[in-house]
Amino acid sequence: MAEKPIHAPLMQFPVIDDELIVGGMKLTQLASRVGRTPFFAYDREAMARRVGELREVLPDGVSLHYAMKANPMPAVVDHMASLVDGLDVASAGEMQIALDSGTGPADISFAGPGKHDNELAAAISAGITLNLESENELERALLIGDALGIVPNLAVRVNPDFELKSSGMKMSGGPKPFGIDAERVPQVLKRIGESDGHFRGLHIFSGSQNLRPDSLIEAQTATFELAYRLAEDAPEKMETLNIGGGFGVPYFPGENRLDLTSVSDNLQQRLTECESRLGNIEIVIELGRYLVAEAGVYVCRILDKKVSRGTTYLVTDGGLHHHLAASGNFGQVIRKNYPVLIANKVSAAPRETASVVGPLCTPLDILGDKMDLGAADVGDLVVVLQSGAYGYTASPHLFLGHPPPVQVLV
Ligand SMILES: *Cc1c(COP(=O)(O)O)cnc(C)c1O
Repeated sequence: MAEKPIHAPLMQFPVIDDELIVGGMKLTQLASRVGRTPFFAYDREAMARRVGELREVLPDGVSLHYAMKANPMPAVVDHMASLVDGLDVASAGEMQIALDSGTGPADISFAGPGKHDNELAAAISAGITLNLESENELERALLIGDALGIVPNLAVRVNPDFELKSSGMKMSGGPKPFGIDAERVPQVLKRIGESDGHFRGLHIFSGSQNLRPDSLIEAQTATFELAYRLAEDAPEKMETLNIGGGFGVPYFPGENRLDLTSVSDNLQQRLTECESRLGNIEIVIELGRYLVAEAGVYVCRILDKKVSRGTTYLVTDGGLHHHLAASGNFGQVIRKNYPVLIANKVSAAPRETASVVGPLCTPLDILGDKMDLGAADVGDLVVVLQSGAYGYTASPHLFLGHPPPVQVLV
């Protein structure tokens, strides 16, 4: 008989007296220090460890950028800014937080389709790099640069002619709203050469949430090949090549942690090759969730426990309005459970099979469906792991009018 798939083992937080420790504190104590539930807690030590381990495995000389949309809480961004080499933003709002962190404009880039004129003006004034998403955006950036009397720093985001296979979220290959189709990039590079803009390089992002080393290797190799081809039409020497990221984290039963050894070996070869083909340029990897997802927990309190026709429900004060992804409504096709546990009953008996739901009047408000949990009581804390990315800011807080969750960096 096939074994039932289980969640990847808990690695990032210690357990003492069967209670989860986050930010060096037992969760029940942390909850009372936060003052109310629900809340997101992000563990700064876990983030630092992740970045440290990543730098250990990646070849020297690769720049590591944090893609802020995964978790743009200012305190988190400040902390990440102290650990990585640059920040990637996707709106003028994120750009302000990035600049507030003290990160220099040379190490900030701004991607995203549909940049408003005032966002372009803000970015050009700040001196950060614009990752251009269309020909139209290029022309507007040039006009705005002219009007401001400031030379815009321009990189071209390429919509590659390949895709990242087995990606949780495909963002390249075929028609896409992101980037400029690879076959049109030579024209765009020519236009930049004729303009007053300063050419910085290329941005090639092919997908997200990938747990398969072989497909990451294939995409990275194809990315460098594409960059070499496009470099032939570059108006001046490329300064930077952003090869995307896409490193995934295990969310669901049966998923395992990504082993980056072979990815790193391949990357080392590509770097050596790239230096001989394009000279000494900065190679950037941009990562969001891989850096922060596992460092975060979402914590809510059990308000009611009821049995309905044989199914035990733990009714909590948290739900999809705070954590859409854990409810299964953020890009999942078939709903699967995030790892969930009872804060002070991590693995002890007695156990029970229970479903964790929120207070919303919709059957979509599920945080855990028929999970094996420590037998819980009203007042206990439910913890959703892997919640440091795409949680707070990727959820519809206004839905049903409950207060928003608290966020703390500990
Ligand atoms: C969303 C996004 C990222 C971050 O993706 P993760 O899966 O969180 O690593 C990086 N770069 C670009 C261009 C993105 O749109």
